[in-house]
Amino acid sequence: MSGNAWEQALAQLDQAAKIMSLDPNVHEVLRNPKRALTVSIPVRRDDGSVKVFTGHRVHHNTARGPSKGGIRYHPDVTLDEVKALAMWMTWKCAVVGIPYGEAKGGVVIDPKELSTNELERLTRRYAIEILPMIGPERDIPAPDVGTGEQAMAWIMDTYSMNKGYSVPGVVTGKPLSVGGSAGRASATSRGVMYVTIATLKNLAMPVDEARIVVQGFGNVGSHAVELLAAQGCRIVGVSDHHGGVYNERGLSPVGLSAHKAETGTVADFEGGERITNEELLELECDVLIPATLEGQITAKNADRLKCRVVVEGANGPTDLDADEILLEKGVQVVPDILANAGGVTVSYFEWVQDIQAYFWSEDEVNDRLRTIMERSYVDVLELAEDRKVTMRQAATILGVSRVAEAHQTRGLYP
Ligand code: NAD
Repeated sequence: MSGNAWEQALAQLDQAAKIMSLDPNVHEVLRNPKRALTVSIPVRRDDGSVKVFTGHRVHHNTARGPSKGGIRYHPDVTLDEVKALAMWMTWKCAVVGIPYGEAKGGVVIDPKELSTNELERLTRRYAIEILPMIGPERDIPAPDVGTGEQAMAWIMDTYSMNKGYSVPGVVTGKPLSVGGSAGRASATSRGVMYVTIATLKNLAMPVDEARIVVQGFGNVGSHAVELLAAQGCRIVGVSDHHGGVYNERGLSPVGLSAHKAETGTVADFEGGERITNEELLELECDVLIPATLEGQITAKNADRLKCRVVVEGANGPTDLDADEILLEKGVQVVPDILANAGGVTVSYFEWVQDIQAYFWSEDEVNDRLRTIMERSYVDVLELAEDRKVTMRQAATILGVSRVAEAHQTRGLYP
């Protein structure tokens, strides 16, 4: 991804600032990340040679609490992308009312090109390089594209070894065996499911048999497919980076997962007809859920979308030009900073449980998540209706106003 994600994040902030007449001094502070660190990560390859990778960690804002944000391993990671993702995280946490400022991290790498041992050495060295920035009261990383539970366990172990005692609260999205939370693995998708159902109900569209298309079959996409199918929705299209598969009568979530486990992709699943990723986005459906990377819905394809609603599982999948086109077409966009906030919400639950050393059942986690997601959906919807703005503008205004209030209450140091 180019610097466009950062420009897009700034433009969204500027747009919200204008609508809400944000204090220009606070606006100036919020346009800049609090701190950004770029590190070199030398890794010994299995053949004995050494390769140096580049990594970043950015704190956008800490007015409302410690920083929190995922770590992405992807060849297209740039500092600008990490800055944009950190800014979106700031608004997201404020929208769902959890007490964090925000961060993001990334390493420029295709994790599929490294062995497990090389990935472990890379992850541990990256953790050490960003050590001055992280800690349970400072900045708590979590998984994002290309990372998962195992990477979090390695970071937790590396941090703990340096402290001399176990510090489970330094990362979230960990395995249960080292202080992870029940329900975390599917939390982002569960949040996506709650807001999808709330949106269908609000638009008086039937939930049963609602036609859903999901772009991406990773952590967010695969669980979204499973959870929405369990609500009675019909999954008509799914894809990953190899391509997509379509069946108007519905795809079997169990079949898709089994096929992916066997072949590494859903693209040639025999339960449907093979299509390209471009075709997938343009399928006729009720809800389209982009769950891959930024910049998927742009001026180039927005006009051809045939869905009624876009629920952004991914961060930044729709650019500003596409937002305008979708608004004109009457397509409702449920923005990322609301739609995919379930992940950071249960990450917050995990951090609370780690600090208390007292763990909740999966039902407790899911119930609390549901309360927060449904309340946040109503908060954003009411604000959108009140101010006659889009859901994205409403969510951004809500997030920015809560962060601005914290700034004004704390005052400017010194
Ligand atoms: P992941 O790495 O687990 O999965 C990404 C999926 O996208 C894979 O199936 C991959 O094959 C597919 N993909 C990549 N490029 C593609 C392309 N061009 N076309 C079609 N498919 C493509 O990542 P994830 O954790 O599921 O994250 C997906 C998105 O959700 C990201 O934007 C991430 O920032 C966001 N997100 C993730 C979480 C979380 O808890 N993991 C939380 C909030 C937001």
